[in-house]
Amino acid sequence: MLKQKNLIFVGAPGAGKGTISGLMLAKYPMAHISTGDILRDEVKRETPLGREAAVLMKAGKLVPDEVVAGMVRARLAQPDCRNGFILDGFPRTVNQADLLAAALKELNNPLDRVIYFKVDDETLLARLTARQNCRKCGEIYNKLFMPSKVEGICDKCGGELFQRPDDSLETAKSRLEVFYRQTRPLIDYYEKQGLLLTVTETDKERIMALLERELA
Ligand code: AMP
Repeated sequence: MLKQKNLIFVGAPGAGKGTISGLMLAKYPMAHISTGDILRDEVKRETPLGREAAVLMKAGKLVPDEVVAGMVRARLAQPDCRNGFILDGFPRTVNQADLLAAALKELNNPLDRVIYFKVDDETLLARLTARQNCRKCGEIYNKLFMPSKVEGICDKCGGELFQRPDDSLETAKSRLEVFYRQTRPLIDYYEKQGLLLTVTETDKERIMALLERELA
């Protein structure tokens, strides 16, 4: 079991937040809160929020703080989050971090650790533009670094693999810029609170071993 289990995963797009979340969830009964996944679901269902978000997501821009913070707040209030949670891709601005702090205080369920996945830009762009996701189960692959056994088909569920529209080179570059401008300040923010753990390792098995050691 992990002692520290209320976690934030911070990192540029392509840093491995989703992949490591998947490995953690396979071993530990935690809630996975990915604002990107929640927003993509809204887009797919063509809700009013989804229609508004789709334009911003396609351009690699952030959805307004109050909108995402509201979604996360509602999710954190659900009982399964008492077993621990991984916030994957939220917060992405200092304002979102403040809104999160207020919500967690109200729920009396404080943060344990903030994991920063630090990866160089060249690797990030190479990963993003070769990334593939399963349409059915969401499993993440990479044509270069983590290919599926049969091209275009998910190993886990047989679903079709596709490239996210915002993983094109152009949008991936603007998402990296957005990360450095708007999200990077969170690193100092959480460092000052003594919550930060920076991971520079890139091998996923080694990252898991490190996290299990640090969070035990
Ligand atoms: P992700 O799957 O985490 O890379 O998110 C995909 C896109 O969803 C981002 O490029 C943003 O447009 C939007 N998004 C996800 N999380 C947030 C957030 N915390 N704040 C604002 N926009 C977000």
